[in-house]
Amino acid sequence: IKQSTRNGFCLFNREMNLRVRNSLRIDASLRLALERNELRVVFQPIVDANSRRVMKAEALLRWHNPELGHIPPDRFIPLAEETGQIVAIGAWVLEESCRQLLILQAQRGDGLPLMMSVNVSARQLSEPDFAASVAQTAERFGVPPHQLELELTERILVDDNPVVHDNIRALDALGVSLSLDDFGTGYSSLSYLTRFPLDTVKLDRSFVQDIDSNPQSLQLATAVIAMCSSLGLALVAEGVENGAQAELLHSRGCGYLQGYHFGRPVAPEELARVPGFVSES
Ligand code: C2E
Ligand code: CA
Ligand code: CA
Ligand code: CA
Repeated sequence: IKQSTRNGFCLFNREMNLRVRNSLRIDASLRLALERNELRVVFQPIVDANSRRVMKAEALLRWHNPELGHIPPDRFIPLAEETGQIVAIGAWVLEESCRQLLILQAQRGDGLPLMMSVNVSARQLSEPDFAASVAQTAERFGVPPHQLELELTERILVDDNPVVHDNIRALDALGVSLSLDDFGTGYSSLSYLTRFPLDTVKLDRSFVQDIDSNPQSLQLATAVIAMCSSLGLALVAEGVENGAQAELLHSRGCGYLQGYHFGRPVAPEELARVPGFVSES
């Protein structure tokens, strides 16, 4: 027993070591990623459940490093948050999103406003000048603030940081939309829904993935839809992967749908070719 325990411990240690070393490598490479043009932003369509028109696009970061290959955002964004690099990277994502929004909007045909949703981390919202920098970026690119939506997680709202609160209020006053991401996964204190000037809630895909096979999941989703609608909040269902899920959500009154069923995150040129991006008539 002793032997196997010791082996188990050694293995654990070696694995941890490897993980830390990998993290350090990723961290060092990420420092150079911006200047070496290794980052890009892809866009996933969010459709109106009723008209099936693309109403919003979510900007999602991608990183390809020549040595490390493709590193998923779930790996490097937490690191970038720890080191603070997310502040510079996030500012770049916002600029790139504004630049692409203008190009995409011009391709709409009927001028239906496209909303650009950008993920924002706690670290960014803790910067005292964050709201001002968003205002400045929007103005520099000529993007109307009401066409910008920032996606925040409950984790950001949970610690009572006055700087975060000030930024949220300033962004709201500016006319930027605020969206609560991954709803249902975090602390899920329902008071956040009314305490902050939110416009949109995004129902996490773990609540969507089995609504077409599990009646209880459907009940839960239906309850969230009803709650958001009574609070005057728009609801986006995330991770919609098939037509049955889309139909169920639509029939229960969910306003917006996002997921592989409607389109994967793609380069901006490709987004304009997604069904429902340009008007049919
Ligand atoms: P998220 O904000 O919840 O983004 C949605 C994730 O779900 C994306 O993963 C997207 O590709 C994936 N997804 C969309 N539809 C489906 C579907 O139908 N099925 C399944 N299985 N997955 C779907 P991605 O692009 O790997 O991003 C992961 C996370 O990384 C994001 O989760 C977000 O938290 C973070 N992230 C990505 N870009 C940024 C960024 O620019 N800034 C910050 N702060 N975080 C970002
Ligand atoms: Ca998001
Ligand atoms: Ca608002
Ligand atoms: Ca999400």
